[in-house]
Amino acid sequence: MRDEPLLEKLTQIWGVAGFELAVREAIRPEVEPFADELWEDAVGNLIVLKRGRGENRRKIMFAAHMDQIGFMVKTIEENGLLRICNMGWNWAGSAYNERVIFRNGTVGVVGCYGPIEEANNKIEKLFVDIGAKNKADAERMVKIGDCCGYHGPYTHLAGGQICSKSLDDRLGCYQLIEALKENPGDLPNDIYYCFVVQEELGCRGSQVAAQQVQPDIGIAVDITPAHDYPNDLTGSNRIGAGIGIKICDPSVVADEMVTGVMEKLCTEKNIPYQREVIDRGGTDASSMNLVGAGVRTGGICVATRYPHSQSSVVSADDIEAGIDLINAFSAFSFSQE
Ligand SMILES: [Zn+2]
Repeated sequence: MRDEPLLEKLTQIWGVAGFELAVREAIRPEVEPFADELWEDAVGNLIVLKRGRGENRRKIMFAAHMDQIGFMVKTIEENGLLRICNMGWNWAGSAYNERVIFRNGTVGVVGCYGPIEEANNKIEKLFVDIGAKNKADAERMVKIGDCCGYHGPYTHLAGGQICSKSLDDRLGCYQLIEALKENPGDLPNDIYYCFVVQEELGCRGSQVAAQQVQPDIGIAVDITPAHDYPNDLTGSNRIGAGIGIKICDPSVVADEMVTGVMEKLCTEKNIPYQREVIDRGGTDASSMNLVGAGVRTGGICVATRYPHSQSSVVSADDIEAGIDLINAFSAFSFSQE
């Protein structure tokens, strides 16, 4: 990989949706030396422009989200247990008995009121146990409205696979940072590398960022669920089978010119890829698509086993192929398309 320590570092930063400050502060010094322009907006997006050269250049916006899924404390019980609500989509079964960490370093374990099988994926059946003796003790560590996210190390599996929390979407942030570093500064397009907030809450940051950038083309750089292992989703996404070129998800239909150019570039440059279709979930492509008078959109997606869990698994090769595709797409001259 180009810079695996950077990817590992990004996955370990605390940044539950709506509270991405530490992620942004880690990314900013990585990108600042390579930017022609860089700004943060009112909702917390970090937008980096690398200008191109030439007459017919397009504005291409790549969006990767800084936020991770998590939970927010809703009430604190007399016995010191914390009742929580979702910050993004969580499977109760994934969270059960897992460790979570608050921004101030307080660690807890997720438990369930009754058998997890009977929770029916209702997060209100879960609680977080931080070891507090009672409500007053808990309140010394955690307040109502504080958030927690999964807590655990970045590790390797066999076959070049990476297992970590928060690969969604710190791997996208990593891909954009690396692509920016490789942008030679004379491309036929202006490239906006956008590190956006609150994707997990409904693609909010990318919408605001796209309103500022007004791109010609908007590309979500994110993970997508894999289907190549026993689970409750079906489709053809496989890990290690190349970078996913988004064709369709329930929130967006990718633009045919965009997907056509991506497939052509992958073929020409021997970048392994797969056509990506999912029937549950979505990405920032959906919000960019509907900004202004409409934006041609697409997605560059890394197939992920066990998404939205403590233990998501991806292929390092797919991540790197994604950077290759971002670079090739950025360098493409769209004047004839
Ligand atoms: Zn994501």
